[in-house]
Amino acid sequence: AKETGKARCLVYSPRTSGPPEHDISLEAAMFQAVREGEFLLYYQPIVDAATRRIQGFETLMRWKHPTLGMVPPVRFIPIAETNGLINLLGAWALKAACVQLKHFEEAAKRPLYISVNISPRQFRNDKFLEVLDHALAFSGMSGSQLVLEITEGTLMIDPVHAESILVKMAERQARIAIDDFGTGYSSLAYLKRFPISVLKIDRAFIKDLPDAPKDGAICNAVLDLAKHLDLSVVAEGVETEAQLDYLDRRGCQYIQGYLTGKPMPAHAAMAALKEDLYA
Ligand code: C2E
Ligand code: CA
Ligand code: CA
Ligand code: CA
Repeated sequence: AKETGKARCLVYSPRTSGPPEHDISLEAAMFQAVREGEFLLYYQPIVDAATRRIQGFETLMRWKHPTLGMVPPVRFIPIAETNGLINLLGAWALKAACVQLKHFEEAAKRPLYISVNISPRQFRNDKFLEVLDHALAFSGMSGSQLVLEITEGTLMIDPVHAESILVKMAERQARIAIDDFGTGYSSLAYLKRFPISVLKIDRAFIKDLPDAPKDGAICNAVLDLAKHLDLSVVAEGVETEAQLDYLDRRGCQYIQGYLTGKPMPAHAAMAALKEDLYA
């Protein structure tokens, strides 16, 4: 295990208790991982529910540790959020994703978009707009091809500040998606106040479809709300044909989930786009 003089966050994994490699300081290992280039980006297709054609990709961060293997984001993102490393990782992800979109479009021979998760701390960082502008300028990508995924919580921490940032994002034509929609403790008032374009229905409401009447009612309500507010909807975590069929029939236009594509490395996403071309 790597030891440093820095304050450490010892992360034990009770569910995978066993080899001593798990007793390492994940936080210390993260700083090392940044230097070693162990962080990668995976891309998950977001498809049109009716045609199943790829419209864009969500960027999902991966950490490939030499001995621990793939460390899931649910383990390292919260640490990065606490120690501030998320600002560095997030800036890298945003820029790399924008550059990758250009390659995706060349493979697809049509316009696509890229969706990037922005954590609360990153969103509140003073440098965030600079980071955004740099990623757009460096990649030569239009802001209109970028979707930034934030949660209700991110907006609620400081709504006045959030509004000013969102307005500046809108000036750059970047779209805002509300991630995990319906799982936060917030009112719907922010949908009126903020310039939001996309609602992503959390997998929690999708996973038991089509046989869960309450989940179905919630999905219908979200779709109805989105229609009247002129927002797009992406259903997350779609794993079965029955779920896709249910959502498609109710007018959900976009789908993301294992059924239509798992998160994958860039080269595999390129291959998926080329297949799409001849479909
Ligand atoms: P999220 O943004 O809600 O991302 C969706 C998660 O659902 C991803 O987990 C994805 O792999 C998973 N998923 C997609 N389709 C299915 C499906 O059909 N079934 C199931 N069971 N799961 C599905 P992942 O990649 O482990 O990421 C977890 C969370 O970590 C993300 O949730 C996001 O909150 C965070 N995260 C990942 N990458 C980044 C990043 O670059 N920046 C930030 N700030 N957060 C990230
Ligand atoms: Ca997301
Ligand atoms: Ca989500
Ligand atoms: Ca989620």
